[in-house]
Amino acid sequence: MTNLTFPKHHSVQTGTLSRCQVCNAEKLHMILDLGHQPLCDTLLTKEMLNEPEMTYPLRMMWCQTCTCVQLDYCVDGSVVFHPEYPYRSGISKPLADYQKNICLSLIKQYKMTKKDLAVDIGSNDGTLLSGFKGEGIRILGVEPTNIAKIANAAGIETIQSVFDIATSERIKKKYGKAKVITTTNVFAHMQTIGEFIMGIHNLLEDDGVFISETHYLLDVIQGGQFDTIYHEHLRTYSLRSLVALFDQYDFTVTDVQRGDRYGGNIRVHVTKGRGRPVSPRVTKLLALEKKAGLHKLATYKKFAARATSARIQFMDFLMRVKKSGKTIVGKSSPGRAATLLNYYGVDKDLMPYLAELPTSLKLGMYLPGKHIPIVNEKVLLKDKPDYIVLLAWHYAEVIMPRLKAMGLKSTFVIPLPKLQIVKNSQV
Ligand SMILES: [Zn+2]
Repeated sequence: MTNLTFPKHHSVQTGTLSRCQVCNAEKLHMILDLGHQPLCDTLLTKEMLNEPEMTYPLRMMWCQTCTCVQLDYCVDGSVVFHPEYPYRSGISKPLADYQKNICLSLIKQYKMTKKDLAVDIGSNDGTLLSGFKGEGIRILGVEPTNIAKIANAAGIETIQSVFDIATSERIKKKYGKAKVITTTNVFAHMQTIGEFIMGIHNLLEDDGVFISETHYLLDVIQGGQFDTIYHEHLRTYSLRSLVALFDQYDFTVTDVQRGDRYGGNIRVHVTKGRGRPVSPRVTKLLALEKKAGLHKLATYKKFAARATSARIQFMDFLMRVKKSGKTIVGKSSPGRAATLLNYYGVDKDLMPYLAELPTSLKLGMYLPGKHIPIVNEKVLLKDKPDYIVLLAWHYAEVIMPRLKAMGLKSTFVIPLPKLQIVKNSQV
C-alpha cells in the first residue's frame, strides 16, 4: 500500500474555522453574512414544528491566496447528511439525461472498455452509473444514505457507506482498481478532503482519472447566486483553488469543462501522478478567472452588494403583490430555496406554500427556518395563483413551459440573477 497520509488541514474541523480549507492560509475575507440559518435539507415534519430548531452561522468567506470561497463554520457531516437526506437524482429527467451524457463522453475520452470499473461516489439512486452500465462498463456506487437501498433494488450495485481510505481498500479487494471515479455535487461538501483524495488515489489504476463536478465559483459570482451558499457547500471552488488543492497530492488537474447544472458548474479531471500533460482548456479557464476578477476582493464586495439589492427588490415586489390582494406561491424547494427565503425573510404568511413534483420525497414536509409547507403541485391547478415564484430559477426555462402546459395562467417570477417577471403569454 502507498503512503496514505495527507495534510492535516484537509480534515476540516466541525465548528468555527479560521484558516482556508484548501491552502491553509490565515487570511479569509468576510464577503456576505447570511445570518444564522438552519440546515437547508433538514426538512421538518409537522410534529417537529413544535420543537426547537437548530441554526448555525452562514457566512460566505473568501481566501485571497487560492481564491476558494468557503464557510467559516462547519456543521458536522453526519448532522448535515442524515440518513433521511431527501435528495434523489433520478427524480428529474433532464438530470438523468445529463448524467448519461457524462458517462458517454468519459467512455470515449478515456477509451474505457468492458473490463474497466467505474465507481461513482455519492451515487444517490445510481442515475449516473446506469449510463456506464448501459454501455457494458463494470460499475459500483458508494452512497452513505438510505437512497443506496433504492439503487440496489433498481439493480445498481451500491455500497452504503461514506467513502474513505478503508472503503477504498474494501472495494479494491473485492472489485479491483477503478479506471474512472466520478463524483457529482459531493466534493464541495465534505470535511474529510484528505481522506477522500487518498482513498481515490488508493483505488485508481495508475492511469486512472478522477472526475469531480461541483457548482462553480465563476458562475456563482457572475450570476449573483448567493443562494448557492448553504451549510452543505463548505467550499465553492474556482479552478485555481482546485489546482492548489491537488498540487498538495500526487495528482494533476489535467482537464476541465464547464456546464450549466446547478446554475453553472465545473467538471475537473484529475489524473494520478504529478506533472501530467494538461489540456489547454485548463490554462484558458485559469486566465479567464483572473480576467473576471476572481483574484480581487473588489469583485466579491460587488457581489455582496448585488445580493443585498436583490433582496430589497424582491421583498418590495412581494409586499406590493400582497398589498394588492393578489396571490403568490413558490414552486420547488431545492436547497437554495432555504437560503434565499430565510435570508430574505419570507414566511408562510407571505408565501403560503412551495409546490413540488408529485414524486418528490419532500411532500408533506416544511421548509427549515420559515416553515413554509411543501405540497403536491396539483394544488396549483385548483388555486390558480396570480404569481408563481420559481425557486429552482436556474431551471426556469424548463419549468415555465411545463406549468403552462398543465393549464396554469399564472405570471412567473424569477428571483435571480435579477428579479424578472415573466407573463404567461411570454412563455
Ligand atoms: Zn486558500
